[in-house]
Amino acid sequence: MAAPKKKVGRPGKKAEAAPKGPPKGMASFPEDLAGTLKYSEPLGRHTTYRIGGPASIHFVPASNEAAAGAVAWAREHKVPYLVLGLGSNVLIRDGGFRGLVIKIGKGLDAVSHRAGTWKVGAGLPMPLLARKTAEEGFGGVHKLIGVPGSVGGAVFMNAGAHGQDIASVLISATVLDPKGRIVDKPKKEIAFTYRRSGLEGYVVLGCALRLEQEEPEKLKSELTMLLRKRREGTPFDQPCCGSVFKNPEETSAGRLIDRCGLKGRRVGGAEISKVHANYIVNVGNASADDVLKLIDIARTAVFKEFGIELELEVKVLGEPK
Ligand SMILES: Cc1cc2nc3c(=O)[nH]c(=O)nc-3n(C[C@H](O)[C@H](O)[C@H](O)COP(=O)(O)OP(=O)(O)OC[C@H]3O[C@@H](n4cnc5c(N)ncnc54)[C@H](O)[C@@H]3O)c2cc1C
Repeated sequence: MAAPKKKVGRPGKKAEAAPKGPPKGMASFPEDLAGTLKYSEPLGRHTTYRIGGPASIHFVPASNEAAAGAVAWAREHKVPYLVLGLGSNVLIRDGGFRGLVIKIGKGLDAVSHRAGTWKVGAGLPMPLLARKTAEEGFGGVHKLIGVPGSVGGAVFMNAGAHGQDIASVLISATVLDPKGRIVDKPKKEIAFTYRRSGLEGYVVLGCALRLEQEEPEKLKSELTMLLRKRREGTPFDQPCCGSVFKNPEETSAGRLIDRCGLKGRRVGGAEISKVHANYIVNVGNASADDVLKLIDIARTAVFKEFGIELELEVKVLGEPK
Protein backbone atom coordinates (compact mmCIF):
# COMPACT_ATOMS: atom_id res chain seq x y z
CA MET A 1 0.00 0.00 0.00
CA ALA A 2 1.21 3.53 -0.75
CA ALA A 3 2.60 5.54 2.14
CA PRO A 4 0.21 8.14 3.51
CA LYS A 5 0.59 11.63 2.10
CA LYS A 6 1.38 14.54 4.34
CA LYS A 7 1.34 18.24 3.55
CA VAL A 8 3.86 20.14 5.58
CA GLY A 9 4.86 23.72 6.12
CA ARG A 10 1.38 25.26 6.17
CA PRO A 11 0.98 26.99 9.47
CA GLY A 12 -2.42 26.51 11.04
CA LYS A 13 -3.29 23.48 8.90
CA LYS A 14 -3.49 20.14 10.63
CA ALA A 15 -1.35 17.37 9.14
CA GLU A 16 -3.45 14.79 7.28
CA ALA A 17 -1.69 11.65 8.50
CA ALA A 18 1.63 10.69 9.99
CA PRO A 19 4.07 9.43 7.38
CA LYS A 20 5.85 6.12 7.89
CA GLY A 21 9.21 7.85 8.04
CA PRO A 22 12.56 7.25 6.42
CA PRO A 23 14.18 3.81 6.33
CA LYS A 24 16.13 2.64 9.36
CA GLY A 25 19.45 4.39 9.71
CA MET A 26 18.42 7.44 7.62
CA ALA A 27 18.05 10.81 9.35
CA SER A 28 14.56 12.29 9.80
CA PHE A 29 13.54 14.73 7.08
CA PRO A 30 12.69 18.24 8.37
CA GLU A 31 8.90 18.41 8.32
CA ASP A 32 8.76 22.20 8.52
CA LEU A 33 9.84 22.61 4.89
CA ALA A 34 6.98 23.82 2.67
CA GLY A 35 6.01 21.11 0.23
CA THR A 36 4.59 17.62 -0.13
CA LEU A 37 6.43 14.83 1.58
CA LYS A 38 5.99 11.10 1.05
CA TYR A 39 7.94 8.07 2.11
CA SER A 40 8.58 4.97 0.05
CA GLU A 41 6.97 6.62 -2.96
CA PRO A 42 6.91 4.51 -6.17
CA LEU A 43 8.80 6.54 -8.78
CA GLY A 44 6.77 4.90 -11.54
CA ARG A 45 4.12 7.47 -10.55
CA HIS A 46 6.52 10.25 -11.50
CA THR A 47 8.05 9.08 -14.78
CA THR A 48 6.58 9.08 -18.29
CA TYR A 49 7.72 5.44 -18.60
CA ARG A 50 5.54 4.59 -15.58
CA ILE A 51 8.52 2.58 -14.41
CA GLY A 52 10.67 2.94 -11.30
CA GLY A 53 10.99 1.48 -7.79
CA PRO A 54 10.40 3.54 -4.65
CA ALA A 55 12.23 6.61 -3.37
CA SER A 56 12.90 6.38 0.37
CA ILE A 57 11.88 10.04 0.69
CA HIS A 58 10.01 11.99 -1.99
CA PHE A 59 9.64 15.73 -1.58
CA VAL A 60 7.97 18.27 -3.85
CA PRO A 61 9.12 21.69 -2.60
CA ALA A 62 6.61 24.54 -2.60
CA SER A 63 9.24 27.28 -2.65
CA ASN A 64 12.82 27.85 -3.74
CA GLU A 65 13.83 28.05 -0.08
CA ALA A 66 12.22 24.66 0.65
CA ALA A 67 14.17 23.14 -2.26
CA ALA A 68 17.35 24.67 -0.84
CA GLY A 69 16.46 23.35 2.64
CA ALA A 70 15.96 19.83 1.29
CA VAL A 71 19.34 19.84 -0.46
CA ALA A 72 21.05 21.29 2.63
CA TRP A 73 19.50 18.54 4.78
CA ALA A 74 20.63 15.81 2.37
CA ARG A 75 24.18 17.18 2.32
CA GLU A 76 24.35 17.58 6.09
CA HIS A 77 23.16 14.03 6.70
CA LYS A 78 25.03 12.52 3.74
CA VAL A 79 21.79 11.24 2.25
CA PRO A 80 22.07 10.72 -1.55
CA TYR A 81 19.65 12.97 -3.42
CA LEU A 82 18.30 13.14 -6.91
CA VAL A 83 16.47 16.02 -8.59
CA LEU A 84 13.68 15.14 -10.99
CA GLY A 85 11.27 17.14 -13.10
CA LEU A 86 8.55 15.23 -14.94
CA GLY A 87 10.69 12.12 -15.33
CA SER A 88 10.50 12.13 -19.13
CA ASN A 89 14.16 11.45 -19.84
CA VAL A 90 14.90 8.86 -17.18
CA LEU A 91 14.68 5.13 -16.67
CA ILE A 92 14.60 4.43 -12.95
CA ARG A 93 15.65 0.95 -12.01
CA ASP A 94 13.32 -1.42 -10.19
CA GLY A 95 15.10 -1.09 -6.82
CA GLY A 96 14.21 2.62 -6.77
CA PHE A 97 16.34 5.26 -5.11
CA ARG A 98 17.61 4.88 -1.55
CA GLY A 99 17.73 8.51 -0.58
CA LEU A 100 15.85 11.73 -1.23
CA VAL A 101 14.14 12.51 -4.51
CA ILE A 102 13.35 16.21 -4.92
CA LYS A 103 10.69 16.64 -7.56
CA ILE A 104 10.59 20.14 -9.02
CA GLY A 105 6.95 20.47 -10.01
CA LYS A 106 3.81 22.08 -8.68
CA GLY A 107 4.64 24.88 -6.27
CA LEU A 108 7.52 26.05 -8.42
CA ASP A 109 5.47 26.53 -11.57
CA ALA A 110 4.63 30.23 -11.61
CA VAL A 111 4.78 32.09 -14.91
CA SER A 112 4.63 35.80 -15.68
CA HIS A 113 5.84 38.15 -18.38
CA ARG A 114 6.52 41.75 -19.12
CA ALA A 115 6.87 42.58 -22.81
CA GLY A 116 9.05 39.80 -24.24
CA THR A 117 10.71 38.72 -20.99
CA TRP A 118 9.10 35.65 -19.50
CA LYS A 119 9.85 34.45 -15.96
CA VAL A 120 9.03 30.80 -15.55
CA GLY A 121 9.24 28.41 -12.60
CA ALA A 122 11.20 25.21 -13.25
CA GLY A 123 8.22 23.07 -12.29
CA LEU A 124 5.97 24.24 -15.13
CA PRO A 125 5.40 21.55 -17.78
CA MET A 126 7.05 22.58 -21.07
CA PRO A 127 3.95 21.82 -23.19
CA LEU A 128 1.91 24.20 -21.01
CA LEU A 129 4.51 26.95 -21.46
CA ALA A 130 4.65 26.31 -25.22
CA ARG A 131 0.88 26.64 -25.49
CA LYS A 132 0.52 29.63 -23.16
CA THR A 133 3.25 31.66 -24.86
CA ALA A 134 1.86 30.87 -28.31
CA GLU A 135 -1.67 31.82 -27.25
CA GLU A 136 -0.38 35.16 -25.99
CA GLY A 137 1.42 35.73 -29.30
CA PHE A 138 5.01 34.92 -28.35
CA GLY A 139 7.16 32.53 -30.34
CA GLY A 140 10.38 30.82 -29.35
CA VAL A 141 9.45 27.89 -27.12
CA HIS A 142 6.27 26.91 -28.99
CA LYS A 143 8.30 24.39 -31.00
CA LEU A 144 8.89 22.47 -27.74
CA ILE A 145 5.17 21.67 -27.48
CA GLY A 146 5.93 17.94 -27.83
CA VAL A 147 8.66 17.81 -25.16
CA PRO A 148 6.79 16.36 -22.18
CA GLY A 149 9.21 17.47 -19.45
CA SER A 150 9.39 20.38 -17.00
CA VAL A 151 10.95 23.75 -17.78
CA GLY A 152 13.74 22.93 -15.29
CA GLY A 153 14.38 19.62 -17.03
CA ALA A 154 14.39 21.43 -20.37
CA VAL A 155 17.06 23.85 -19.14
CA PHE A 156 19.12 21.05 -17.57
CA MET A 157 18.91 18.94 -20.73
CA ASN A 158 18.93 21.90 -23.15
CA ALA A 159 15.84 20.35 -24.67
CA GLY A 160 15.03 21.20 -28.24
CA ALA A 161 12.89 20.25 -31.19
CA HIS A 162 12.44 21.27 -34.81
CA GLY A 163 15.67 23.29 -34.84
CA GLN A 164 14.92 25.27 -31.66
CA ASP A 165 16.46 24.64 -28.23
CA ILE A 166 15.81 26.33 -24.92
CA ALA A 167 19.34 27.78 -24.75
CA SER A 168 18.62 29.97 -27.77
CA VAL A 169 15.92 31.94 -25.90
CA LEU A 170 17.33 31.79 -22.37
CA ILE A 171 18.41 35.01 -20.66
CA SER A 172 19.31 33.48 -17.29
CA ALA A 173 18.50 30.57 -15.00
CA THR A 174 17.72 30.79 -11.30
CA VAL A 175 19.65 27.98 -9.70
CA LEU A 176 20.61 26.53 -6.38
CA ASP A 177 24.36 26.39 -6.74
CA PRO A 178 26.66 23.71 -5.30
CA LYS A 179 27.31 25.98 -2.28
CA GLY A 180 23.60 26.07 -1.49
CA ARG A 181 23.02 29.66 -2.66
CA ILE A 182 20.09 30.70 -4.84
CA VAL A 183 21.57 32.76 -7.66
CA ASP A 184 20.69 33.99 -11.15
CA LYS A 185 23.11 32.53 -13.65
CA PRO A 186 23.31 34.45 -16.92
CA LYS A 187 23.30 32.39 -20.10
CA LYS A 188 26.95 33.21 -20.85
CA GLU A 189 27.93 31.34 -17.67
CA ILE A 190 26.08 28.17 -18.71
CA ALA A 191 28.00 25.77 -20.95
CA PHE A 192 25.14 24.77 -23.23
CA THR A 193 25.85 22.22 -25.93
CA TYR A 194 23.59 19.77 -27.77
CA ARG A 195 21.13 18.42 -25.13
CA ARG A 196 23.44 19.44 -22.30
CA SER A 197 23.80 22.43 -20.00
CA GLY A 198 26.76 21.39 -17.86
CA LEU A 199 24.58 22.22 -14.81
CA GLU A 200 25.45 19.01 -12.96
CA GLY A 201 25.48 19.79 -9.21
CA TYR A 202 22.96 22.64 -9.63
CA VAL A 203 19.19 22.62 -9.13
CA VAL A 204 17.32 24.68 -11.70
CA LEU A 205 14.56 26.63 -9.96
CA GLY A 206 13.38 28.85 -12.79
CA CYS A 207 14.48 30.87 -15.76
CA ALA A 208 14.01 34.07 -17.69
CA LEU A 209 13.36 33.74 -21.42
CA ARG A 210 13.38 36.29 -24.21
CA LEU A 211 10.51 35.54 -26.60
CA GLU A 212 9.57 37.37 -29.78
CA GLN A 213 6.08 38.59 -30.61
CA GLU A 214 4.49 36.73 -33.48
CA GLU A 215 1.06 36.41 -35.01
CA PRO A 216 -1.03 34.17 -32.63
CA GLU A 217 -2.92 32.58 -35.53
CA LYS A 218 0.35 31.59 -37.22
CA LEU A 219 1.67 30.15 -33.93
CA LYS A 220 -1.58 28.26 -33.38
CA SER A 221 -1.44 26.56 -36.76
CA GLU A 222 2.26 25.74 -36.19
CA LEU A 223 1.35 24.04 -32.88
CA THR A 224 -1.33 21.98 -34.60
CA MET A 225 1.09 20.94 -37.34
CA LEU A 226 3.89 20.06 -34.88
CA LEU A 227 1.59 17.95 -32.70
CA ARG A 228 0.24 16.13 -35.77
CA LYS A 229 3.82 15.36 -36.85
CA ARG A 230 4.57 13.96 -33.38
CA ARG A 231 1.46 11.81 -33.38
CA GLU A 232 2.29 10.41 -36.79
CA GLY A 233 6.01 9.81 -36.33
CA THR A 234 6.42 8.73 -32.68
CA PRO A 235 4.51 6.60 -30.17
CA PHE A 236 3.36 9.85 -28.62
CA ASP A 237 0.56 8.45 -26.47
CA GLN A 238 2.39 5.42 -25.08
CA PRO A 239 4.47 5.45 -21.87
CA CYS A 240 8.09 5.97 -22.90
CA CYS A 241 11.11 8.22 -22.39
CA GLY A 242 11.47 9.65 -25.88
CA SER A 243 14.63 8.70 -27.77
CA VAL A 244 16.53 5.93 -26.02
CA PHE A 245 19.81 6.39 -27.92
CA LYS A 246 21.64 9.45 -29.22
CA ASN A 247 21.82 9.63 -32.97
CA PRO A 248 25.29 8.63 -34.16
CA GLU A 249 26.96 11.07 -36.54
CA GLU A 250 25.31 11.18 -39.94
CA THR A 251 22.70 8.54 -39.26
CA SER A 252 19.74 7.89 -37.01
CA ALA A 253 19.68 5.34 -34.21
CA GLY A 254 16.08 4.47 -35.08
CA ARG A 255 16.97 3.63 -38.68
CA LEU A 256 19.86 1.37 -37.58
CA ILE A 257 17.67 -0.52 -35.08
CA ASP A 258 14.92 -0.81 -37.67
CA ARG A 259 17.39 -2.25 -40.23
CA CYS A 260 18.28 -4.94 -37.67
CA GLY A 261 14.63 -6.00 -37.86
CA LEU A 262 13.93 -5.15 -34.25
CA LYS A 263 10.73 -3.09 -34.51
CA GLY A 264 8.09 -4.76 -32.37
CA ARG A 265 10.62 -6.90 -30.44
CA ARG A 266 9.36 -7.50 -26.88
CA VAL A 267 10.84 -8.39 -23.52
CA GLY A 268 8.23 -8.72 -20.76
CA GLY A 269 6.09 -5.58 -20.90
CA ALA A 270 8.56 -3.53 -22.97
CA GLU A 271 8.58 -3.24 -26.75
CA ILE A 272 10.76 -1.60 -29.39
CA SER A 273 8.13 0.69 -30.86
CA LYS A 274 6.62 -0.35 -34.17
CA VAL A 275 6.22 3.36 -34.99
CA HIS A 276 9.80 4.52 -34.29
CA ALA A 277 12.60 2.06 -33.44
CA ASN A 278 14.49 4.52 -31.21
CA TYR A 279 11.58 4.45 -28.76
CA ILE A 280 11.06 1.61 -26.30
CA VAL A 281 7.51 1.68 -25.00
CA ASN A 282 5.88 0.25 -21.90
CA VAL A 283 3.05 -1.86 -23.28
CA GLY A 284 1.95 -3.24 -19.93
CA ASN A 285 3.66 -3.32 -16.54
CA ALA A 286 7.17 -3.31 -17.97
CA SER A 287 10.00 -3.38 -15.46
CA ALA A 288 13.19 -1.36 -15.86
CA ASP A 289 14.90 -4.70 -16.31
CA ASP A 290 12.71 -5.46 -19.36
CA VAL A 291 13.71 -2.13 -20.93
CA LEU A 292 17.39 -2.65 -20.10
CA LYS A 293 17.31 -6.07 -21.78
CA LEU A 294 15.84 -4.52 -24.94
CA ILE A 295 18.49 -1.78 -24.83
CA ASP A 296 21.12 -4.48 -24.73
CA ILE A 297 19.53 -6.41 -27.61
CA ALA A 298 19.40 -3.26 -29.79
CA ARG A 299 22.96 -2.22 -28.97
CA THR A 300 24.39 -5.67 -29.63
CA ALA A 301 22.53 -6.06 -32.93
CA VAL A 302 23.53 -2.60 -34.22
CA PHE A 303 27.17 -3.19 -33.29
CA LYS A 304 27.19 -6.61 -34.95
CA GLU A 305 25.52 -5.34 -38.12
CA PHE A 306 27.11 -1.89 -38.54
CA GLY A 307 30.06 -1.73 -36.10
CA ILE A 308 28.45 1.34 -34.46
CA GLU A 309 28.22 1.63 -30.66
CA LEU A 310 24.96 3.28 -29.69
CA GLU A 311 25.20 5.71 -26.79
CA LEU A 312 22.32 6.14 -24.34
CA GLU A 313 20.33 9.38 -24.37
CA VAL A 314 18.02 8.28 -21.54
CA LYS A 315 19.49 8.56 -18.06
CA VAL A 316 19.44 5.24 -16.22
CA LEU A 317 19.18 5.99 -12.49
CA GLY A 318 18.55 4.20 -9.21
CA GLU A 319 19.40 0.73 -8.01
CA PRO A 320 18.61 -2.74 -9.37
CA LYS A 321 16.10 -4.80 -7.40
C1 LIG B 1 7.45 11.23 -25.89
C2 LIG B 1 8.71 12.01 -25.59
C3 LIG B 1 9.22 12.89 -26.53
C4 LIG B 1 10.39 13.61 -26.27
N1 LIG B 1 10.85 14.49 -27.23
C5 LIG B 1 11.93 15.24 -26.96
C6 LIG B 1 12.39 16.21 -27.92
O1 LIG B 1 11.83 16.39 -28.99
N2 LIG B 1 13.48 16.96 -27.60
C7 LIG B 1 14.14 16.82 -26.41
O2 LIG B 1 15.11 17.55 -26.17
N3 LIG B 1 13.74 15.89 -25.49
C8 LIG B 1 12.66 15.12 -25.74
N4 LIG B 1 12.24 14.20 -24.80
C9 LIG B 1 13.02 13.98 -23.58
C10 LIG B 1 12.60 14.84 -22.36
O3 LIG B 1 11.23 15.21 -22.45
C11 LIG B 1 13.48 16.09 -22.20
O4 LIG B 1 14.82 15.74 -22.00
C12 LIG B 1 13.00 16.95 -21.01
O5 LIG B 1 13.62 18.21 -21.08
C13 LIG B 1 13.29 16.33 -19.64
O6 LIG B 1 12.62 17.10 -18.66
P1 LIG B 1 12.07 16.40 -17.33
O7 LIG B 1 11.50 17.46 -16.47
O8 LIG B 1 11.17 15.28 -17.67
O9 LIG B 1 13.44 15.85 -16.72
P2 LIG B 1 13.66 14.45 -15.95
O10 LIG B 1 13.45 13.32 -16.87
O11 LIG B 1 12.88 14.47 -14.69
O12 LIG B 1 15.22 14.57 -15.61
C14 LIG B 1 16.16 14.52 -16.67
C15 LIG B 1 17.52 14.98 -16.12
O13 LIG B 1 17.43 16.34 -15.76
C16 LIG B 1 17.70 16.54 -14.37
N5 LIG B 1 16.76 17.56 -13.90
C17 LIG B 1 15.41 17.59 -14.13
N6 LIG B 1 14.90 18.71 -13.58
C18 LIG B 1 15.92 19.38 -13.00
C19 LIG B 1 16.04 20.61 -12.29
N7 LIG B 1 14.96 21.38 -12.04
N8 LIG B 1 17.26 20.98 -11.83
C20 LIG B 1 18.36 20.22 -12.06
N9 LIG B 1 18.31 19.05 -12.72
C21 LIG B 1 17.11 18.64 -13.20
C22 LIG B 1 17.49 15.18 -13.72
O14 LIG B 1 18.31 15.02 -12.57
C23 LIG B 1 17.92 14.23 -14.84
O15 LIG B 1 19.32 14.10 -14.85
C24 LIG B 1 11.06 13.45 -25.04
C25 LIG B 1 10.54 12.56 -24.09
C26 LIG B 1 9.38 11.86 -24.35
C27 LIG B 1 8.83 10.94 -23.29
